[in-house]
Amino acid sequence: TTKKKMSLTSRVILGMLLGILTGFLIRTFFADITFIHEYIVNGLFDVGGKIFIASLKMLVVPLVFVSLVCGTSSLKDIATLGRLGGKTVAFYLATTAIAITLALFLANVFKPGAGADLSAATTFVAKEAPTLGSVIVGMFPTNPISSMANGNTLQIIVFAVLFGIAISAAGKPGERIAEIFKDLNEVIMKLVALLMNIAPFGVFFLMAKLFTGLGLDAIFNLINYFLVLVAALLIHGLVTYSAMLKIFTGLSPITFLKKMEDAVMFAFSTASSNATIPVTMETATKRLGVNNKIASFTVPLGATINMDGTAIMQGVATVFIAQAFNIDLSMGDYLAVIVTATLASVGTAGVPGVGLIMLAMVLNQVGLPVEGIAIIMGVDRLLDMIRTAVNITGDSVVSCIVAKTENELDIERFNDPQAAVEDE
Ligand code: ASP
Repeated sequence: TTKKKMSLTSRVILGMLLGILTGFLIRTFFADITFIHEYIVNGLFDVGGKIFIASLKMLVVPLVFVSLVCGTSSLKDIATLGRLGGKTVAFYLATTAIAITLALFLANVFKPGAGADLSAATTFVAKEAPTLGSVIVGMFPTNPISSMANGNTLQIIVFAVLFGIAISAAGKPGERIAEIFKDLNEVIMKLVALLMNIAPFGVFFLMAKLFTGLGLDAIFNLINYFLVLVAALLIHGLVTYSAMLKIFTGLSPITFLKKMEDAVMFAFSTASSNATIPVTMETATKRLGVNNKIASFTVPLGATINMDGTAIMQGVATVFIAQAFNIDLSMGDYLAVIVTATLASVGTAGVPGVGLIMLAMVLNQVGLPVEGIAIIMGVDRLLDMIRTAVNITGDSVVSCIVAKTENELDIERFNDPQAAVEDE
């Protein structure tokens, strides 16, 4: 008899469910046993989860740099690059604008903030929203090594693209260097695949720790906010993306969503688009059939500038807070919300909880009380996990669309249910 090994995806799902269950059990039955909290929850679970996140983050900078240099150095000419960049950014901005509009619409129809409890409101200091100019200037590194050391994705992208262009323009030496980068890319992708094997444990630790401390009562107090936000996220994640994929590529949204499962679970459990980049990249190239030329550019760029789920949260939360404080928003305010939320999402990295910082900028911009953030903060973690899953699904949908329109999508691979499973 042949022993059938469970697929990685099933093992990750199992790890996640067991983790959630363990968290609930500890919370319910062992709430006051210090030993368990000290050595298991804040010991084992905490350490295990942190090592998992660290091992994912460790891959991001080398992966983004190497794969993007590979990608750009194999592009035929600068015109292709310009077209690719323009198209990608246009799609990212469009999906974000649709996301906020959907959120503003739903929040106005269902009025989650009417009569909300304001007792939690406390003072909160907001940072200014970045200006378009400062976002663009900030993309250019003065020192590429420090960009890498700080994990500044946009700066790494700019340097890698320029480096790749130089490689393709440099004749024989360029060809030799390109070969090295191709080999390096293979090695790093192998490392991604290897580290994926610890994911079931990593996800278990993260979920067990999180759900031990997650109070659901907070959610019940804000149930209207929670439900409207989750509904908007689901509609955008399932309907908007499916429609876009169908319209622009004619491919099956069901196949697409099915193949997103690994990346979605990683995004959910880490609440970080950035930490999920290695998995999104692997999903885009190995499972969805997006050529590395495209994915190496669209995925890291998307993780930084395209956060549809986060934009949805900005929309719902702004309207919620306006309603809770009985403040009317004008058409101009709504426009300001759309612009500020989009700019803020371009200028901030995809890391846990960054949505709240962006929200402070948005509230500031339209003159709403920033204290409102304190009201929704208590339920933000779970929502952060869900919106991060939406964020990376948006990056992947746009990657497929851009690849398809550039003739760089391997349709056979896209349609093959086994694609990449054998690599595991
Ligand atoms: N955690 C989100 C992300 O990484 C950003 C946010 O909404 O806080 O995509």
